[in-house]
Amino acid sequence: MCHCLECQRRTGAVVSNQARFRREQLTIEGKSAEWPRTAESGNALTFRFCPTCGSTVYWEGEGFPGYVAVAIGNLADPNFPAPTIAVWEESRHPWVCLPADTPPKRVAKQG
Ligand SMILES: [Zn+2]
Repeated sequence: MCHCLECQRRTGAVVSNQARFRREQLTIEGKSAEWPRTAESGNALTFRFCPTCGSTVYWEGEGFPGYVAVAIGNLADPNFPAPTIAVWEESRHPWVCLPADTPPKRVAKQG
């Protein structure tokens, strides 16, 4: 769960949720639009969007080599496990929080 302002702008939502998979676990097909940007950490990120509706589908970054972040909402699965890590809490909307039983594994910043 990322609360950074850039993710809020990118998604149009107050929080971005992602699941990371090893690159070899995924098969990526179809067209996508790209948006590369540099995170505050200095790491490069490349977001890939559906060219029709503009929804973020997945992204890769220097900060997590070998992994692909997939936007959980794209899976349209209400039973997908809840997030276990929250980052950029300093820009979190106060009413957005992890489930109460989430282990305390929060990271101040990431990118
Ligand atoms: Zn973010």
